Amino acid sequence: MSGPASSLLGVYRMPDAVFVRGAGTRLVAEDGRVYLDFTAGIGVNALGHASPLVRSAIETALGTGLIHVSNLFRTRPAEELARVLVDRSGLDQVFFCNSGGESVEGAIKFARKWAKARGGEAKHRIVALKGSFHGRLFGSLAVTDRPDFRDPFRPVMPGVDFADPEDPVGVREALSRERTAALIAEPIQGEAGIRPLPGDLLRDLREWTREKGIALILDEIQCGLARSGTFFAHEASGITPDILCLAKALAGGLPMGAVVMSRAIAAAMAPGDHGTTFGGGPLVASVARTVVETLGRADFLEGVRLKGERLRRGLEQVAGANPDCVAEVRGRGLLWGVELSRTAGPVIEEARERGLLTVPAGSRVIRLLPPLTVRRAEIDDAVEVLAGAIGTVARAA
Ligand SMILES: *Cc1c(COP(=O)(O)O)cnc(C)c1O
Repeated sequence: MSGPASSLLGVYRMPDAVFVRGAGTRLVAEDGRVYLDFTAGIGVNALGHASPLVRSAIETALGTGLIHVSNLFRTRPAEELARVLVDRSGLDQVFFCNSGGESVEGAIKFARKWAKARGGEAKHRIVALKGSFHGRLFGSLAVTDRPDFRDPFRPVMPGVDFADPEDPVGVREALSRERTAALIAEPIQGEAGIRPLPGDLLRDLREWTREKGIALILDEIQCGLARSGTFFAHEASGITPDILCLAKALAGGLPMGAVVMSRAIAAAMAPGDHGTTFGGGPLVASVARTVVETLGRADFLEGVRLKGERLRRGLEQVAGANPDCVAEVRGRGLLWGVELSRTAGPVIEEARERGLLTVPAGSRVIRLLPPLTVRRAEIDDAVEVLAGAIGTVARAA
């Protein structure tokens, strides 16, 4: 039962295993093999597979009979979820959409409209950071620093400048250009190889953008919603952005995104300025409400931090035992990158053969982002498998 799934567009490289069931951190393939899933759907399945909480939230929501109503009308689940996100973030209003890329598209539009209203038509440029990943749609692709993703589709949206987060003076210069409307950044860069922004940069970015009347957009699509050990990753810096992009874990595996924004940004938008058919439907919104309330509990977040520490210690031991192969271990909470001094592919494949699923982040980094409900013993098992895989690949080299 292997071989290429030839009626699916070949934009993904997939191993042969066909997954048919899951529970918690485990995925079961058609051939009966059980895998430890340290990808969690690329950070989507924060409560694990077959989560009873998600299941009962879906069943409760279905009990109302309302899957979709459209944004022509009010529904309670969307309003209640928006209230929770507003309360947690200190921001004021929410626009719901269906994916991460869409939330970045919305954020760019909202920031531009706000900036033009204050600074004139020319104020439209967006500063993004080197190493960024914000999505695959034309606006989100334009602020994504991956030539291999962008080049085949040029021209992408114009008006974007890239600045290097390792060069704060350069970032400041980019922000000083008169036509800059917004800065977009991931507090922990995901695709770039799990790179937390250096030092106090996030706090500096907040100060500089405020000084210059530029919107600060934070993309927490991957690092937000408890993944980093705080409900939002930027809480660790004690700042509040103007716009916050969320998606991935938001609705427990159902597709959903959100743009959370300040009153000032929201005030620049009028009915008809933006829209989406599916955004914030009652089914996804009810499930998301259960998910964010669970992820936001103090004891849940404490658990993420403690288990993250355990994973960090394990990975650092693996690094210490393989100094020729492992260059660096980086991350926070339950979002970790193990940077190798060689391409990560062979180690990822070897780990998969041994029953551990991980995902690359760039060419040299193994990314680990288990469900936040991962058990301590599963962390220890994953570290052991990874150590074995790294050892085998290093010896073969
Ligand atoms: C996944 C991701 C996106 C894009 O989300 P999609 O749902 O795939 O469109 C954007 N930004 C970051 C940081 C991401 O990790």
